[in-house]
Amino acid sequence: MFIAKFLQSAWQPGQFPEDDATEVAFAGRSNAGKSSAINAILARPGLARTSKTPGRTQLINFFEVAPAQRVVDLPGYGFAKVPIKMQQHWRELLTRYFETRQSLTGLFIIMDSRRPLLDFDWQMLDWAKARHLSTHLVLTKTDKLSRSEAARTLAAVKAETQALATAQLFSATTKLGTDEARRVLDEMLTARR
Ligand code: GDP
Repeated sequence: MFIAKFLQSAWQPGQFPEDDATEVAFAGRSNAGKSSAINAILARPGLARTSKTPGRTQLINFFEVAPAQRVVDLPGYGFAKVPIKMQQHWRELLTRYFETRQSLTGLFIIMDSRRPLLDFDWQMLDWAKARHLSTHLVLTKTDKLSRSEAARTLAAVKAETQALATAQLFSATTKLGTDEARRVLDEMLTARR
């Protein structure tokens, strides 16, 4: 089995690796649980750094998950204390990645199941729609909800997003939903560009 590994960080588009693979990007508001989800799905604890680690979370991080297949950890968004200039930089970096990347075949949007579909999530959905990109919504931290609350949330998210995306329940803590997430990731990574 191929073991996922860190490939490269980019603070500028010039630092993106060669655009010659298939890539699935992971997006999410800061603290949504994106790093924990990446680590659980790729079964590599500590691979994606969690929010508490300064530095890497402001970059686009590329991971190789199989030959010519990458997972791309996009910078989280929504830290109120981040200076405007830095927010502008993030936005430009994200826009550039999204608008120019040929390797990009799919998008995972990670959302806290207690607060799904906030502005940032809709913006990512709009971008994905504009690019006709396969999109999968991961409602994480479901261990904090009752089963019925989780089921209701998933139904509501599916109803609101309809044909824009698929959606699932997830927990990095209990590992609920990891098999489903891996299946979707694998489909996106093996899709024809
Ligand atoms: P990121 O900023 O989106 O990368 O979020 P992190 O993965 O760093 O997670 C933010 C916080 O939520 C951390 O304190 C995690 O331990 C916690 N967290 C992440 N996923 C889960 C989950 O599935 N269940 C619970 N209970 N906590 C989680």
